[in-house]
Amino acid sequence: NHQAHYISRQRFSAELSKCLFDFVIQLLPTPEELAVKEDVRKLLERLIRTIEPNSRLLSFGSTANGFSLRNSDMDLCCLIDSGERLSATDLVTMLGDLLNRETKFHVKPLPHARIPIVKLSLDPSPGLPLGIACDIGFENRLALENTRLLMCYAMIDPTRVRTMVLFLKVWSKRRKINSPYKGTLSSYGYVLLVIYFLVHVKNPPVLPNLQMLPPLRPISEEDTHLNGHNIWFFDDIELLSTRWHSENTESIAELLTDFFRYFSKEFLYNTGVASIREGLLTKESKGWQNDLSSAGYNDSRERNRFCIEDPFEVDFNVSRCVTRDGLYTIRGEFMRAGRILAGRPERALLALSQLCE
Ligand code: ATP
Ligand code: MG
Repeated sequence: NHQAHYISRQRFSAELSKCLFDFVIQLLPTPEELAVKEDVRKLLERLIRTIEPNSRLLSFGSTANGFSLRNSDMDLCCLIDSGERLSATDLVTMLGDLLNRETKFHVKPLPHARIPIVKLSLDPSPGLPLGIACDIGFENRLALENTRLLMCYAMIDPTRVRTMVLFLKVWSKRRKINSPYKGTLSSYGYVLLVIYFLVHVKNPPVLPNLQMLPPLRPISEEDTHLNGHNIWFFDDIELLSTRWHSENTESIAELLTDFFRYFSKEFLYNTGVASIREGLLTKESKGWQNDLSSAGYNDSRERNRFCIEDPFEVDFNVSRCVTRDGLYTIRGEFMRAGRILAGRPERALLALSQLCE
């Protein structure tokens, strides 16, 4: 009887994994959408070069790391390679004016934001039935590097990593817990949680710790640091595949169910920090205890309720926007999802769509 139960659970897990995989596949961007986005990037780059001839416009975020869903926004970063540099504030203002004159984008320059950006949007067209939203920032080299890190993690085990990440993104958007402005977590935060879980929680791990693998040859401080942050990681994934492989054979469904279990019951929200680089750390060791005294932050809106360390900018808490209420809601959703996936098979399969209501 035990064995029969085990076999039926295995069969169900395989079936649910296939459903999850098929579910995210149909939410991927179409080739047309990707082509239109690349055209937009090229057009914008051409225009920016009329102001700053030595600039390049690069994609980061989901359009560049392989975790993109249909109609996701475009994150672009302008790098200026040499010469006299205008300040980001001036560039944002000038670029805003230029795009207003020369294109049909709706343009909103934010020159005085903490990170100055130009926000753009385009109305729907045949190639882009839902239009397009795009942010252009400047010199955000760390964002390009963390995009590359996430992309490398995805390449190591594309099926399991991408399915889990994409599912969490859709699920968190549909459940309305993907809005840093409203006290919940950004997509970037959810992706980091998945990687953290696959590197540091799962035993045997599904992914190696790319930032801690020994480098192939000695590297100088200069090559590894950017604005004082160590940005080195093992990025030769082809070579890695000849030297490392995961002993973990769990299915997507098993991993996802365990992810929800871990983040509803086990993760130490009050004292712990999820670090991709180092595993579970303590708030105390990072000086990230809840700081109720900091100006402008009352108790429902303090910075360190939930702590996820950025892989490179280790003093930065990626989930600093998460409020007490936001965290309560997120954990409630983790519990609900875990309950549904771990429930009776016929219910769980049906529940996939219900899960993302
Ligand atoms: P979506 O498809 O929902 O837009 P995304 O993968 O583009 O998801 P975002 O949350 O939009 O994820 O983040 C895009 C990029 O911006 C990330 O790769 C990261 O470089 C940077 N980023 C976003 N949020 C943060 C944050 N809180 N801290 C640091 N960097 C961030
Ligand atoms: Mg994005």
